[in-house]
Amino acid sequence: MWPLYWCQSNMGINQDMRHILVVEDQKSKRIVSLKENSYSIGRDPTSSVILYDRQVSRHHSTLLRVTDYQNNHDYYRIIDGNLQGKKSTNGIMINGKYTLSHELKHGDIIRFGNKAKASYHVLNSADDLDLFKARENLDTLSEAELVPQSANHQELQEEVGKNTLIFQAGTEEKATVTNNSPSLAECSPNPIIELNFKGEITYINPAASIKFPDLRTQKLEHPIIKGLAGESISQEGTSYVREVQIKTEFYEQHIHYLGDSQLIRSYVFDISKYKKLETKLNHHADYYRFLVEQASEGIFLVEVKSKKIIEANRAYCQLLDYEATEVIDLSVYQMIAIEREILDTELGQIESGKSYYIEESLHRKKDGNLVSVETRVSRQSFGDKDIFCFVVRDNSERKRSEERVQYQAFHDALTNLPNRVLFNNQLAIALANAQHNQTLLAVLFLDIDSFQAVNNSLGHTMGDQLLQSFSRRLTSCVRGGDMVARWGSDEFAILLPRIKNSDDTIKLSQRIFENLKQPFPVEKYQLQIKASIGIAIYPQDGQDKETLLKNVDAALARTKREGRNHYQFYSPTMTAEAISLIKIETLLHNALDKEEFTLCYQPQIRLKTGEITGMEALIRWNHPELGMIAPSKFISLAEKTDLMIHVGKWVLKTACEQNLAWQKIGLPILPIGVNISNREWKQVNLVEIIAGVLDKTGLDPHLLELELTEKTLRENIQTARQVFQDLQNLGVRIALDDFGTGVSSLGYLKQFNFRTLKIHQTFIRDLRANAQDLAIVSALLDLGRGFNLRIIAEGVETQQQLEILQGLNCEEAQGYLFHHPLNADQATELLKRHFSVS
Ligand code: C2E
Ligand code: MG
Ligand code: MG
Repeated sequence: MWPLYWCQSNMGINQDMRHILVVEDQKSKRIVSLKENSYSIGRDPTSSVILYDRQVSRHHSTLLRVTDYQNNHDYYRIIDGNLQGKKSTNGIMINGKYTLSHELKHGDIIRFGNKAKASYHVLNSADDLDLFKARENLDTLSEAELVPQSANHQELQEEVGKNTLIFQAGTEEKATVTNNSPSLAECSPNPIIELNFKGEITYINPAASIKFPDLRTQKLEHPIIKGLAGESISQEGTSYVREVQIKTEFYEQHIHYLGDSQLIRSYVFDISKYKKLETKLNHHADYYRFLVEQASEGIFLVEVKSKKIIEANRAYCQLLDYEATEVIDLSVYQMIAIEREILDTELGQIESGKSYYIEESLHRKKDGNLVSVETRVSRQSFGDKDIFCFVVRDNSERKRSEERVQYQAFHDALTNLPNRVLFNNQLAIALANAQHNQTLLAVLFLDIDSFQAVNNSLGHTMGDQLLQSFSRRLTSCVRGGDMVARWGSDEFAILLPRIKNSDDTIKLSQRIFENLKQPFPVEKYQLQIKASIGIAIYPQDGQDKETLLKNVDAALARTKREGRNHYQFYSPTMTAEAISLIKIETLLHNALDKEEFTLCYQPQIRLKTGEITGMEALIRWNHPELGMIAPSKFISLAEKTDLMIHVGKWVLKTACEQNLAWQKIGLPILPIGVNISNREWKQVNLVEIIAGVLDKTGLDPHLLELELTEKTLRENIQTARQVFQDLQNLGVRIALDDFGTGVSSLGYLKQFNFRTLKIHQTFIRDLRANAQDLAIVSALLDLGRGFNLRIIAEGVETQQQLEILQGLNCEEAQGYLFHHPLNADQATELLKRHFSVS
């Protein structure tokens, strides 16, 4: 809405001045002498000034006469559209500039639409007008073409009627501003009130008396009058606008102090509708602001042109640690950590009205740190402003939990070391690099010796603690860039992605062993830990991941088998060994049922005479596919389960039966040696089993010589004495096998009543070259004789060994020099030949 400063024309202010409009349209150029208070200009035939142009709206613009009391002159204001606020289609242009309202000045050029135009002139007198007409060559134009102003009055009158303002001219006091005909003030739908400086009402127009019926009774107390007179008189000669609220209605009051006439005239416009609309809009704006402020997402608006932030909500400010006021006017380049050109390109691709999702971008906090956010950005036009709206959500937590999940997927929960999956991934990458750079790479497998024993005896909690400190120690031994992973329960894998040569792996292994010399304090214990290490190197031990891992595993298996706390490089034979070991373990369980075991017999020889003094039964596993398998390959596997007990029983029974079979065919009575494994010796009813077999077969117990190794004896020393006694009571003989390999052999000789002592073949092997071995064997022979034992030298392979042994007065021996272990038939044939039995 616009304030209407319209007044009566005949106020006596510069009445001589002539206001004229020179109109030019498709029809003609003509002059309009402006005298009235208002003119409607447009294409409509009822317009005061009719313009003949299709681009001109029906009610294109309005001219209003305004009195400037201060400067004591009248002027015209031109406004776009009609008095009801309906704007023209093509607008008005004053001196080349579009405008909605303009105070006309002498010489102003007005354009209505495109072609129709007018110029405004203020002339001093009627003479000047004639001169002007002559100069502008406008004589021919007549003023008669004007539609009389009264038509406009008519229209206003009708408008008033529509607003149900019933007005009887003369029934109200006439204002000093009125003339005889119903004035504009009378017709005005807006209240007009006039007071004298004492505050007495001198005039109210009909609209005012209808709008404010209690004006006369309340007088100076009425809000619309209150404050106008009295103190405010100092306002004299000035005009101002104030807003007045009466109950729920709002008014805009334009007040003019007319010094000459000592009057205060005010024009009142009901602005309730706009006020309510404004309040409503304000509320809407408040609601939206509230909504935006409450949002957990960061929201900010950026002006497309300047790329500056014009609005930002609390969440966004908090996200970047800014105060609310600090972000305004910051540039988007400052906030989004991305190169300016790239950001410009990305923003440039955002079409108006569309919204785009960006999964991850980095925004810069006030302190310069970056925060990762997911963003939805859209572009929208608001009037002449183009705006980007960014809605961002902090990604960090999501990213953190993703990273957590990722970490858990690739790390061992107990030790925090990389797990197998991560190790495999890294190995694949390292292999590709090594291949590309033609460098060496090493994989080490490491196993904690006897970890199970710690777990079993001290419990899992301590076992876990040990694993954790062990992991830390291991990690401290490697260089940056190397990787230590937990491979299994007590198995670890180390990846050295780039080594110079195999010495690097030896150095690392030695570093680890050195480190492990320090005990591990776990609760009140100081645990001494040893480890076995297997090593495989790319490219010689495997070109791909699978081969390398398989081979390093085989190397570790070999280390564990051949005495622990050591490292071992992979060698090609290990693979075959590893494969057959796994295979053997599965096949072994059916071997007994399938009768795949057989016994071989190796004769024992009296050296002086060459006579056979006994036979040792040695088991063989004859597998249909794998062929003949030696006991060293499967005894330890069978010992893991009860299988060894059954196998042992079978050996005993078969050996006894064979001995009887030889007796039956008339061969001389010979003792038969049967090896007893650790597992069998541990068996609580061993004596019963042996007694049972002897009983069943009927073999004389004196002919059965059980061979027991030092190791077995040492590990079962507590029960050994009783078992020994029981067996001797049965009448069986006991031999100490592999004598010399243990540590306290001499002690055993004293404690246990052995019948036979078998010197381990390692002493025999180097008898010629090694004086030490010679001395030992000589001493052992003396010792055995001192204890009155039968002594057998094992593993005699050469004539020289034989001669040395003979020189030492060794009585009996066993070995390939005399006979390899023979199968039952061969042994029978031999015995028959030997003892000349047909
Ligand atoms: P052992 O009881 O000390 O048996 C002697 C081993 O030396 C046998 O190996 C035999 O074949 C081998 N041997 C004999 N003369 C020579 C020689 O001149 N040079 C070399 N290098 N070796 C010779 P085998 O049969 O492979 O048995 C190995 C071990 O397996 C045995 O050592 C024994 O401890 C165990 N074993 C064999 N049979 C049985 C069995 O039926 N039951 C149990 N529990 N253990 C058995
Ligand atoms: Mg033996
Ligand atoms: Mg032996």
